[in-house]
Amino acid sequence: MRFTRFGLSTLRDTPAEAEIVSHQLMLRAGLIRRLSSGLFTWMPLGLRVLRKVEAIVREEMDRAGALEVLMPAVQPAELWQETGRWEKYGNLLLRMQDRHQRDYCFGPTHEEVITDIARRELRSYKQLPVNFYQIQTKFRDEIRPRFGVMRAREFTMKDAYSFDVDQAGLEQSYQVMHAAYTAIFERLGLKFRVVDADSGEIGGNRSQEFHVLADSGEDAIAWCDEDNFASNVETAATTAADGEALAPELELEKVSTPNTKTIEELTTLLSLKPEQTLKTLIVEGDEQPVALVLRGDHELNAIKAAKIPGVASPLTMSDPATIVRVTGCKPGFAGPIGLKIPVFYDHATKVMSDFVCGANEADMHLTGVNFGRDIDTPKTVDLRNVVEGDSTPGGKGTLSIARGIEVGHIFQLGTSYSEAMNATIQDQDGNDVTLLMGCYGIGITRIVGAAIEQNNDERGIIWPEPLAPFDVVLIPINMHRSDTLREAAEALYAELAELGLDVLFDDRDARPGVKFADAELIGIPHRLVISDRGLEAGELEYRHRRDDDSRMMKREDALNLLKESSLS
Ligand code: ATP
Ligand code: MG
Repeated sequence: MRFTRFGLSTLRDTPAEAEIVSHQLMLRAGLIRRLSSGLFTWMPLGLRVLRKVEAIVREEMDRAGALEVLMPAVQPAELWQETGRWEKYGNLLLRMQDRHQRDYCFGPTHEEVITDIARRELRSYKQLPVNFYQIQTKFRDEIRPRFGVMRAREFTMKDAYSFDVDQAGLEQSYQVMHAAYTAIFERLGLKFRVVDADSGEIGGNRSQEFHVLADSGEDAIAWCDEDNFASNVETAATTAADGEALAPELELEKVSTPNTKTIEELTTLLSLKPEQTLKTLIVEGDEQPVALVLRGDHELNAIKAAKIPGVASPLTMSDPATIVRVTGCKPGFAGPIGLKIPVFYDHATKVMSDFVCGANEADMHLTGVNFGRDIDTPKTVDLRNVVEGDSTPGGKGTLSIARGIEVGHIFQLGTSYSEAMNATIQDQDGNDVTLLMGCYGIGITRIVGAAIEQNNDERGIIWPEPLAPFDVVLIPINMHRSDTLREAAEALYAELAELGLDVLFDDRDARPGVKFADAELIGIPHRLVISDRGLEAGELEYRHRRDDDSRMMKREDALNLLKESSLS
C-alpha cells in the first residue's frame, strides 16, 4: 500500500475526549472515527487490524468444529417475551417498532434466536453435539459508553452456542471452547488470564472470563498460582475470619463527630485506622430496607450483597429520606446498634473489638464498641470484595490482585433458555429431553483496544505482530530528489510484496522525521529505511518497533529477516 493512496490522517495532539491511552492512540493513528456516543467508524487502517482478529477467531472456531452462521441483527419481541428477557434485559435493550407497530429489538446477544433455530432444526441426539457461531454486530445501550471501542454501544462480537443431549456433553463442549479461546488469545500475542466469573443475568452454572491484563482494565482479578485460583473479584469468595475477637479494653462512649460524612474524615478526626471502624450501608430490600455492615476499609461487593435473601437485586442504595426514616438521623451516622431492620455483617467484622461505628444520631459516633457486650455477636456473611493478601478459599496461599479487560466469556447455560422456549430433542432411548446449552462470546472490537492498552509506549502503538495492519513500513529518504533512489525503493517495495508481506510504502514528499513519527504512532513492527548512502553500500537500515536503535544490514539479510518473521 502506498501511503499517498491510503488516505491516512494522523493527529499530533491527544483528543481531549479520550480518557485512556488505547482510545487516544486509536484516534491519533486514525484507526477509528467517532460518529456519536458509543458509535464508531472503522477507518481503513483500523479495519485491517479488526479483520486480522476476526480471521484468527474464525480459524480457531472452525478448527474446534463450530459451524459459522449469520443471524439477523434485528429480532422480534415475541422471542424475548418467551424467555422473559423483553422486560428483564432493561434499558440495555434497544427496542423499536416497524411500520405495523410490531416490536423488535436490535440484538445485544442471540440466545433466543439460536434456541429458536435449535428447536426447529434439531430432532435427534444424532445431530449432536453441535456448536453454531457468528461474527456479528451487536447493540447494547450502555449507560456509560466510554474508552472508545472498549465499551461502545455498537460493537462486533463473536458469539457461539453449543447444544448437547446431557450435562456430560455440555461439559465436553465447554472444554472444547475453553481450549479454542486459549489458542485464540495465544495466537493474538496477548498476555491474558482465565478467571471464574459470575453468570450474571444470563443465568446458568459454570462460567469463566478471559481477561487481557492491563492497568486500565475495568475489572479486578484475584489470583494465586500456588492454589491454582483465579477469579473475577466480583465473585471471589472471602471466608469467615479465623479466631475470636480480642477481649474489650475500652468502655462504650458516645463522641461528637460533626461533619464526618466519610470514613476518611472520621479516622482523621479521631486519629484511627479505617480497620478500627465499621461502616453501615442502608440498601433497598424486598419488603423493607436492610443494613449491610462492613469494616471501614473494605469495599461492598454489590453482586454478593444482591444474592442475600431479602436484599433487592440489583443492589440499590436507599435514598436519603429512607435513611433518615430507618436510622432516625441524617446520612453518614448510621450504625448497627438499635436498628429495627435486618442487619447483615461481613465475615471480617467478626474478629473486631473496641471499634467505632455510627450512633444513629446526627454528628455522633460510638467508640469502644464490642460484640457480645454492646451488640449481640453476629452471624456473618460474605459481603465484601477480596483484597490483596487475603487467603485463598483453598487456604493454601494469598491473593494477588491484577486489572483486566474482559475480552471473552464462556458459560454453561444448562436448560435456562431451552426450557423457556421448549427446545427438546430425542435421546438414545427415544425420550424427549430438554437441550443443554452453552454460550461463548468474544469481544472482537474490544480486543483491538485491549491489545493497544497492553502494547504501547510514549511514541504510539506497538502491535503484536499477528494484529499489525502492516508487517513492514518502507521509508525512502529524499526519493523525490533522486531517480536512482526512487527506482531502488520501487523495486524493494515490489520485492517485499512478492514475499507475501503487507508493506506500507511511505511515498510522501515529507521530511523523514514526519515519516518516522507516523510509522511509530501507527505501530508497524518492522521498519526499513532506504537512502542513497545505504544504496551505495548495498545496505538498508532496519529497526523493530520494540528496539531503541536501528542498524544497517545487507539488503539480503534484511529481506531474510523479514521473510522469517512473516513465516513465524
Ligand atoms: P461487560 O461486563 O464488559 O459489560 P458483558 O459481560 O456484559 O461485558 P458478555 O455478554 O459476556 O458481556 O459479552 C461477550 C463479550 O462481548 C464480552 O466478553 C466483551 O468482550 C464484549 N462486550 C460486551 N459489551 C461490550 C461493549 N459495550 N463494547 C464492546 N465489547 C463488549
Ligand atoms: Mg461477560
